[in-house]
Amino acid sequence: MIISPAFTGKRYAVLGLARSGLAAAEALLASGAEVIAWDRQEVAREKLEGRVTLADPLEMDLSGFAGVIVSPGVPINTHPIAGRAESYGVPLIGDVELFAQARADLPPHRVVGITGTNGKSTTTALVYHIVKSAGLPALMGGNIGLPILDQEPLQPNGAGVGVYVLELSSYQIDLTGSLACDAAALLNITPDHLDRYDSFDHYAFSKSRLFAMQQDDQFAVFGCGDEPTRAVMLAEQSRRAAGRAVPIYPAAIETLQSEWPSLQGPHNLENAAAAVAIAEELGIGPDQWRAALQSFTGLPHRMERLGEFGGVLFINDSKATNPASAAPALAAFPPDHRPRVHWIVGGLAKEDGLGECARYLDNIAAAYTIGESGPRFAELLEDRVKVHRCEMLCTAVQQAIVDAAPGDVVLLSPACASFDQFRDYERRGEHFRDIVTALTSGKSPAGVLDDGREMA
Ligand code: ADP
Repeated sequence: MIISPAFTGKRYAVLGLARSGLAAAEALLASGAEVIAWDRQEVAREKLEGRVTLADPLEMDLSGFAGVIVSPGVPINTHPIAGRAESYGVPLIGDVELFAQARADLPPHRVVGITGTNGKSTTTALVYHIVKSAGLPALMGGNIGLPILDQEPLQPNGAGVGVYVLELSSYQIDLTGSLACDAAALLNITPDHLDRYDSFDHYAFSKSRLFAMQQDDQFAVFGCGDEPTRAVMLAEQSRRAAGRAVPIYPAAIETLQSEWPSLQGPHNLENAAAAVAIAEELGIGPDQWRAALQSFTGLPHRMERLGEFGGVLFINDSKATNPASAAPALAAFPPDHRPRVHWIVGGLAKEDGLGECARYLDNIAAAYTIGESGPRFAELLEDRVKVHRCEMLCTAVQQAIVDAAPGDVVLLSPACASFDQFRDYERRGEHFRDIVTALTSGKSPAGVLDDGREMA
């Protein structure tokens, strides 16, 4: 566990006792802090029973508190805790900020922070894989993996000091005030999560704070696919020395991409370019990062190759929950004499329209619309490509298998959130995987299709 004398003798309130909140409460307790903790669910509170004061910070006098810790899932733009903490002059922070404050007492180390609308998890996992492959001690934290405060501090080894690789959503950045990353990446900024911000500009500003927290001599790398990202880069270049705030340089590694089975598509070339820039900043040379890009196995639900059956490739890209993240998946499979992609699309739409997907309609052999936004996608697509209105994922896969010829790709990249039909994008991806396995193994798909998970 990461503990720090910086917390000793201070009072903190922790609101929300899911994984990261619980880890924060435990780390503060172990550091000798006084902790007031609350969760609206009794089962969550029970874990701290007898060790902390269980009380709701919304009903307490917060005078003298050193911080109110909330989970990134709490919408601080609307939740009353934000106003309450402010009225007492108490900072509203997250577990990443506690980690930042504990850094001074950790063994020598470096921190890498990765943000962006899309590609964070892939790039974080890739940087972690490269660092580990180079023999350095490494941990993944933040939005990906286990809560950072739960982990054992990294000790330097013969190869160098430890590297904490953090995936940071804008919500986590909002709750962090002093994390100066030794190296940071901003992959892209496109419309998303606009329920949590007053405007797109506010969302972009939230991302830019990760770089404003860095010192002038620290390193930052930026994607070059959109204007808001470019604007953050230009602002950072104006205050740093040459070479300390740089764009990614995908052209330099493009010819190597055929060696990376789990990093296909133009978006993964960008993610790899960001990871390589960070690796080089950490002193990891081309021989090491080149081998690591080859051995990277990717993450489930992101362009995950489920297998090739009868010459048809099945790809699970359930994590593509907005058009900007589905577009690169469509782009990854250009026509080979004829369009090849059988695109399963739809769910709970985050925006109206096809967004960047519209650029790649020539790659689509047919679209199979599902979920709440299915009819709208059908309307948008019908004049341009063949459309099957399927509603359910199982119907879509069955129809796609009927249509697909050897060389084709059946792609679930829904461009939408999953919550209309599934608990989360993981469930949607697992359900897709189960259906594909059943239908391609020649087994009766009845068990899979009727197991009640769809619409659950
Ligand atoms: P995040 O953690 O930011 O949500 P992931 O790495 O989990 O990102 O990928 C989410 C989705 O975005 C996947 O569908 C993936 O194919 C797509 N994606 C990944 N990298 C990028 C990128 N650089 N630009 C656009 N889309 C991307």
